[in-house]
Amino acid sequence: MKIALIAHDKKKADMIKLAADYKDVLAKHDLYATGTTGTMIMGETGLKLTRMKSGPLGGDQQIGSMVADNNLDMILFLRDPLTAQPHEPDVSALLRLCDVMNIPLATNVASCKIFLNYLADMDKEN
Ligand code: PGA
Repeated sequence: MKIALIAHDKKKADMIKLAADYKDVLAKHDLYATGTTGTMIMGETGLKLTRMKSGPLGGDQQIGSMVADNNLDMILFLRDPLTAQPHEPDVSALLRLCDVMNIPLATNVASCKIFLNYLADMDKEN
């Protein structure tokens, strides 16, 4: 599956822990990430992924473009709901497009774990 990983700044530590805890699961899939999130995940876990631009510089829109093209299967997006984001319109557009295209989207650690456990189960069955 093609999976995108995005984390706002205050959620990056959570994302790195998630990626490290589920490294074996994630490694079996094609991973994409916004710029800074991707750099940190690669540096901390060694996972290979395709890096888009940083979120505030268009990375969310690049991932949104993949969604619009039906070219992405899942998004794990650790949003920070307590901090104003300069690129809030891009964030909202991405969330909206996921609903338009019916793409699974997890926006907090608990839902990300549910998605990743599902992937782990799927991998076991195949
Ligand atoms: P970043 O972007 O990974 O480049 O920090 C994430 C975001 O803020 O959308």
